[in-house]
Amino acid sequence: MTSLLPALSGASRRTDSPEAVRFGDHVLTYSQLDEASASLAARIAGAGRVAVWATSTPGTVVAVVAALRAGVPAVPLNPKTGGRELAHIVADSAPSAVLAGPDDTLPSALGGLERIDVSTATTGRASESAFPEPPDEAPALVVYTSGTTGPPKGAVLPRRAVAASLDALEDAWGWTAGDVLVHALPLFHVHGLILGVLGPLRRGGSVRHLGRFSTEAVARELLSGGTMLFGVPTMYHRLADALDDPATSGNLTKALAGARLLVSGSAALPVHDHERIAAATGCRVIERYGMTETLMNTGVRADGAPRAGTVGPPLSGVELRLVEEDGSVLRDTAAIGEIQVRGPNLFTGYLNRPDATAAAFTGDGFFRTGDMATIDPDGYVRIVGRKATDLIKSGGYKIGAGEIENALLEHPGVLEAAVTGEPDEDLGERIVAWVVPADPASPPSGQELADHVAELLAPHKRPRVVRHLDALPRNELGKIMKRSLGA
Ligand code: ATP
Ligand code: MG
Repeated sequence: MTSLLPALSGASRRTDSPEAVRFGDHVLTYSQLDEASASLAARIAGAGRVAVWATSTPGTVVAVVAALRAGVPAVPLNPKTGGRELAHIVADSAPSAVLAGPDDTLPSALGGLERIDVSTATTGRASESAFPEPPDEAPALVVYTSGTTGPPKGAVLPRRAVAASLDALEDAWGWTAGDVLVHALPLFHVHGLILGVLGPLRRGGSVRHLGRFSTEAVARELLSGGTMLFGVPTMYHRLADALDDPATSGNLTKALAGARLLVSGSAALPVHDHERIAAATGCRVIERYGMTETLMNTGVRADGAPRAGTVGPPLSGVELRLVEEDGSVLRDTAAIGEIQVRGPNLFTGYLNRPDATAAAFTGDGFFRTGDMATIDPDGYVRIVGRKATDLIKSGGYKIGAGEIENALLEHPGVLEAAVTGEPDEDLGERIVAWVVPADPASPPSGQELADHVAELLAPHKRPRVVRHLDALPRNELGKIMKRSLGA
């Protein structure tokens, strides 16, 4: 049995008490986190499962760490989730209590649960309670998927998967106790919670959470000790815009250029934004690819060569293959296939969904990601989109939406773009581009955009229909909700 958070327990415990997490002015050192989480762990020990009202506060960190130490699976809840979805998650995960901050107002969907207030107050006395490390296969967390392609499903993540994925990132990124992570993501998903909080805590490093993302706060924290930035593509888009603006570019260029690692994930980073940041700072953003069910699958290594539009090679311990529709493994990985993965990073199954769990795995234990990709000759994976919403079959071709979106974003008249397929009598499916124009008063014409794509890519990839929108529908992680575009 390996310790999940060695910096908080056992022989490798950090006794020099450096900063563990900082949210604005609220700091918890390792000793304070140890003390606060130990006393909460003692209260919840023996519970079947606990929900965590996952606000972006130190209390959420204390709650999750306490649950991990007590060996009680934690279900992080997004405080912005609507009543119906929250009621579904609570009924599905059946926690015995909800851990929340003393000042939090909880919605009626949680009314039936015992409430346990999380205190971050400490007396300065080190915890004396010893918590036996649960078995590696014991569930650590139940994390709900983002609900991009259907209702969210609860992925049961064993301690082994969390440890394996974080260790693979340590290997890829040379992640050390000296790293200070600048963090502006929510704490109820894999990216913000497992990578962004448990990642540094497993190493004995520290986290500075910005509360809300702003380019100014990113610059400030990176210039005052931050070594790494984890973000989603919408954040890098805003950073790219701020780098273009002479009023903000000086400080920000220095801040980003000084960071050890700029990492993007959760959705595809547009090539255009990657190139703009590289041109302004000389630094290339590293992309990693993962999902709730598998944690991290691929990532560009810190000593590797980041390339726009790729998410790097498989991480250590991860087997990755591309598979054709008939289930056969693709030999020519220049062709598009579905990504399947196998490794110690995988979840054990969806909660209460034996049907969905069985359907998600192949006979030989690979997980069907539903993501489509090609692989470059050097092993770097290029995601072209999701099988369900981003793979367009038009005129006998298989076309990935992502590549057309990237081409559209290179047009100066396009601010945001999403591409979907629509049934078409002649073509099977026709390519539809949803475009947010840079200047709503003079949007580029459909013909102009079709010509632009045909010239950059190929004539059969040009959108047949162009629809204008004021903004794309996105969730909190900035993922484009293509379901609401009819995909
Ligand atoms: P649901 O499964 O409920 O429909 P979801 O798949 O969006 O929602 P997550 O598990 O949060 O829920 O997201 C995983 C997905 O995010 C991946 O399957 C992939 O499509 C996408 N993704 C993650 N990282 C990247 C990346 N670097 N590039 C492209 N896509 C990515
Ligand atoms: Mg998914």
